[in-house]
Amino acid sequence: ECVVYWMRMADLRIHDNRALSRASDQAQKDGIPLIVLFIISPQDYIAHDRGARRIDFTLRNLALMKTSFADLHIPLQVVTHFQRKTMPYCALSFCEKHGATTLFANIEYEVDELRRDLEICKLAAPKGIQANFFHNKCVIEPGIIVTKQDKAYTVYSPYQRKWIATLNANIPYYLEECPDPVANDENVRSSKIFAQLFDTRVPDYIEGFRLDDADREKMKEVWPAGEDVAAKMLDAFLATKARTSQLGAVDPVACGAEASDKASRVLKYGSERDRADRDTTSRLSLYLSSGVISVRACVRASMVKWKTSKVDDNRNSGVGRWIQEIAWRDFYTNVLAALPRVSMGRPFLEKFADVVWEKHEDSSGNDSEALKRWKAGTTGVPVVDAAMRCMNEMGWMHNRARMIAAMFLTKDLMIDWRVGERYFMEKLIDGDLASNNGGWQWCASTGVDPCPYFRIFNPYSQSSKVDPTGEFIRHWVPELRKLAGPDLHNPPTVTAKKLGYPLPVVVHSESRDRALRRYKNPGEE
Ligand code: FAD
Repeated sequence: ECVVYWMRMADLRIHDNRALSRASDQAQKDGIPLIVLFIISPQDYIAHDRGARRIDFTLRNLALMKTSFADLHIPLQVVTHFQRKTMPYCALSFCEKHGATTLFANIEYEVDELRRDLEICKLAAPKGIQANFFHNKCVIEPGIIVTKQDKAYTVYSPYQRKWIATLNANIPYYLEECPDPVANDENVRSSKIFAQLFDTRVPDYIEGFRLDDADREKMKEVWPAGEDVAAKMLDAFLATKARTSQLGAVDPVACGAEASDKASRVLKYGSERDRADRDTTSRLSLYLSSGVISVRACVRASMVKWKTSKVDDNRNSGVGRWIQEIAWRDFYTNVLAALPRVSMGRPFLEKFADVVWEKHEDSSGNDSEALKRWKAGTTGVPVVDAAMRCMNEMGWMHNRARMIAAMFLTKDLMIDWRVGERYFMEKLIDGDLASNNGGWQWCASTGVDPCPYFRIFNPYSQSSKVDPTGEFIRHWVPELRKLAGPDLHNPPTVTAKKLGYPLPVVVHSESRDRALRRYKNPGEE
């Protein structure tokens, strides 16, 4: 007999993990071993546009966890199962094979995953296996923060106000730290059924899903795996000293210069978070998306560090503002769970379903010239190019840069937001369906609480706000490294030609008019 914890893509950690912790409790209570299962499903990854970088990050974290679990005499078995539809059978046959009485997992809120878990419940009971599911992704799980009419909020501000009030009224409940799993008895390692599970390896390659070796090497250097790394990055973000080059393991030069003074990044977050030329944000998104760090731990640590017992609702205080940004993550997950159509390629605002988009591919499926240039970072608009090259190279992009790049694709190039959403999923190491969809639909003005369609970013004025020193552009667009001031943000034609930098793919004022026209009259050219 045993208890099985089915680890999923967004819970890659041992500490402060609800389903794992509860599974361990159960195993202790029943005096039986705990074993861990992870299912790789290439078909599922393809269906969800999972990027190779995020999958590679998953494998790297699993390999580390395999060792940490083994130290606790807990085997972690990674199984590859191609077909997504039959995943419940794969999980349950694993349970049966190992004599499991109970199965524990954390909930994934995407609609297919919710359906899959319902199927598990249906199939498990007749086999005498009790399936238990836990909320673990968010600070406050979906379905709790609702309107007076018991509906999901589709406007952020009231959601956030209620989120803070609910959290502050229930801090011990929402921020509770789950106990670590207890070690299995040592003799599990020599038992007939479980011993071989310790000998299996976490695969390096996945049949049916392409991973790019050169890129993997680079990502490994830029974004090391592991709970320790994530904890250090959180510490570094909260600490009252400037970041040194090894902290966070992300080359600070890659995104601009280091902070020059001694104040912590979180304290300055309220005023500096929109700067892409400085290392102003936590860069924890990939560790949060993959669950390598617990979001509860992030909120707890910031409160402990700054000795507050309540979440600050002041938008200008660094710590308060950071926690409020984390609330966006909960908000978009809440939206995804309540309104699954947003993740099925539908705009939340149906009135924009008929907006006319430019053709983004030819009859053979090749990208249009404009799309190619956006993807490659050769649009001739420096801030957009810097943003796209940064993501192509590093797998990560600053939030404001994401907004500018996404707004440029949808409003200046008039290319369908779903095309951009897919490309971001392909390249981002922090790709998360809920946040990515939320971010894209915000920029395309089609989502919940979106940017109004007539508020179109001027990429040149945005550029001087997000990159006032010009270091962001100079780093990622080296052709322009000798330029400064307005010329850097919007190079004159002669200068651009001399430097071999492309001329803008569109004239902003003209494309702006086109976007206004098409959004005002969906269905019309
Ligand atoms: P910090 O500023 O330190 O914030 C801390 C954490 O709060 C983040 O790690 C993240 O988990 C959360 N957070 C902050 N801002 C947001 C936000 N606007 N929406 C949702 N969560 C937020 N975030 C992803 O994690 N995955 C994505 O695939 C993703 N795609 C995006 C696409 C677009 C078009 C846009 C505009 C935003 C997207 N975001 C996405 C949100 C945001 O850009 C990133 O979470 C943020 O840039 C990560 O940097 P950080 O960890 O330094 O954030």
